[in-house]
Amino acid sequence: MTDPEDLVERVDEGELRLHELEDHADHDTAATARRLLLERETDTDLEAVGDYAFPAEAAEPNIENMIGAAQVPMGVVGPVPVAGGAADGDYYLPLATTEGALLASVNRGLTVIRAAGGADARVTKNGMTRAPVFQVDGVAEAAETVEWVEDNVDALAEAAESTTSHGELIDVEPYVVGDSVYLRFAYDTKDAMGMNMATIATGEACELVEAETPASLVALSGNLCSDKKPAAVNAVEGRGRSVTADVVIPGDLLEDRLHTTAEGIVEANTRKNLIGSAKAGSLGFNAHAANVVGAAFLATGQDEAQVVEGANAITSMDTRERDDGTTDLYASVSLASLEVGTVGGGTKLPTQAEALEVLGLRGGGDPAGSNADALAEIIAVGALAGELSLLAALSSRHLASAHEDLGR
Ligand code: NAP
Repeated sequence: MTDPEDLVERVDEGELRLHELEDHADHDTAATARRLLLERETDTDLEAVGDYAFPAEAAEPNIENMIGAAQVPMGVVGPVPVAGGAADGDYYLPLATTEGALLASVNRGLTVIRAAGGADARVTKNGMTRAPVFQVDGVAEAAETVEWVEDNVDALAEAAESTTSHGELIDVEPYVVGDSVYLRFAYDTKDAMGMNMATIATGEACELVEAETPASLVALSGNLCSDKKPAAVNAVEGRGRSVTADVVIPGDLLEDRLHTTAEGIVEANTRKNLIGSAKAGSLGFNAHAANVVGAAFLATGQDEAQVVEGANAITSMDTRERDDGTTDLYASVSLASLEVGTVGGGTKLPTQAEALEVLGLRGGGDPAGSNADALAEIIAVGALAGELSLLAALSSRHLASAHEDLGR
């Protein structure tokens, strides 16, 4: 076995570069050598960073210049009761976060959802997108390109799908801006989040576009995709899974468990999530969907930068009058662009794979795509629980102070 000190020496002497260590030693020794170098260079102690629980080689597809692992505490909420299109039953949802009180709050919401008989959830749209940008001479060539694309979607699908055994091209949406043509390709990527799959497939389709039209490819991603940037196109058209969860909560449950009323929650939602978000120019009209999305992403090996799109959610709350004169609460959260997978990316890493195992969703589903659909539905119900709990806390405080002010 190579001595990490030898590697350190060879880097110091300029014989090896930091990213080349895996070519000369096993992955764990390479990581140890990098830590030693870094500890000396920065006068630090990286004992905790080096105390990781998986073979460094397992992380090779996920990281370069590995020195160890950033460990985030993982907890669990649930059972999450879901009647979904793919998820069906009670699930424990692992969440990784550093935000104290988050899991307690989500669990409070889940208790009420469970007492109300569980939540419904459905994936209403599914399409991972990649939008290359092409250059043309002007609008006449742009129109010619768009016309060819619209007439040849089948040929584009054949080219794109030649690169993958799972991915299927669903749609190509053209956009023209001056002498730029954007083609927003959308794919059903089954159980993969699909960003690599969609990129490779689109690359193949672009070759056909260039061969058959005057357009010349400038960039495989033209930002109309739109990946890892807040963007209205994702809120309107969706990206990854568009998923909605909803529940009706009896008024007496709201009073007993959350110390509030349907009217109180509706008012908090309207003034905060709808009017407040509108005034702020926000893309997300919700209280804190990103909290559950982000913690679920970290726990289950999703691409954490895509929390940007995952937080693109609208929370709606309404009253439902009953014949007996009492008022129930209708509560929903609609996540427009939740990009999740149960294969590929970080899902294979040991702790993340274990978390997916807890959900019963590790690996490919039967039929393909059903595991990622189920994961999206469970996260949506978790987000709904978080919305309910926070809005209830805000409205019950308001209710309490209003009672105090009124002296009754
Ligand atoms: P991936 O690991 O690149 O691909 C998933 C693979 O799983 C495919 O090769 C697919 O094979 C295979 N597969 C096996 N069973 C499957 C099933 N049931 N459903 C779907 N696929 C199945 O993962 P990805 O989701 O496409 O990409 C995720 C990675 O992309 C993450 O690491 C993320 O950080 C990264 N990323 C890339 C970009 C980019 O622009 N390239 C941008 C953002 C993030 P077949 O294709 O042969 O069917």
